[in-house]
Amino acid sequence: MSVIDKDSIRKKLDSGEFKSCDKPTGASAGWWQSFKRIQDEKENIIPFVICIQCKTILSYDAQKTGSKTLKLHHENSKIRPAIAPKITTHFTSQKYDKVSSEQKKKVLDSCVKFCACDMRSFNTINGRGFEALVQTLLDIGHSSTHQIKASDILSDSTTISRHVQSVAHDKRKNNL
Ligand SMILES: [Zn+2]
Repeated sequence: MSVIDKDSIRKKLDSGEFKSCDKPTGASAGWWQSFKRIQDEKENIIPFVICIQCKTILSYDAQKTGSKTLKLHHENSKIRPAIAPKITTHFTSQKYDKVSSEQKKKVLDSCVKFCACDMRSFNTINGRGFEALVQTLLDIGHSSTHQIKASDILSDSTTISRHVQSVAHDKRKNNL
């Protein structure tokens, strides 16, 4: 089977190609209450599970990864408040919500502040890379069940420059 990432699993779940299914019969671990398994278009169980409550997709390979993260996720879900509305959209087809003019205005204000504070050109906002960055942040915000602090998610420049080298290295390897 080809390597599959969580994003494409989510897309395939949304499109109905993949389906979630019940836990294995005989699975008695408490954390299974929080998860469903996922099967591909040929009804093979893939090594991922989906949280019933927050729809997070987690990898699960009984031999390789074990169930520690699943157990933890299940434990945390008891503390965290259920926020149903934005989650149900995952199982219907993936649609982007319309952006309200109010939201757009907020972002526009932030863009002005960003350019002014950090002395960036207005063109920065129109860059494809910048757009991709914003999309990543929106996606993370959407899939997260709790508020995230910007300073927690952004890396400092040293980390970024170090990471550039490893990304470049991977790219080169893939091109060989
Ligand atoms: Zn969850």
